Amino acid sequence: MAFLTALALFGTIGTPELIIILIILVLIFGASKLPQLGGAMGKTIKNFKSEMRDGMAEEPKKNGGSAASAEARFCAKCGAAVPDPEAAFCPKCGKALS
Ligand SMILES: [Zn+2]
Repeated sequence: MAFLTALALFGTIGTPELIIILIILVLIFGASKLPQLGGAMGKTIKNFKSEMRDGMAEEPKKNGGSAASAEARFCAKCGAAVPDPEAAFCPKCGKALS
């Protein structure tokens, strides 16, 4: 199925390609096995296409909340950790942070 996979990856599966693939399959498996094979092929191609569509639609947009978590601050008064690097006041006791 490497040939089919390559085609799918490049998004070039159209009717001509399907006909070529069908002909190749007939040559390989013989016409007698085609009906059951056709069903499997259809599913495979459907899966390929829907997966490609999904992959393009939901490009992983991870909001970069990763910055500046390295230096955690601690309240001088109560010692609570202050997770927000922009915070001006301690979230626990409310004391202004330096
Ligand atoms: Zn505090």
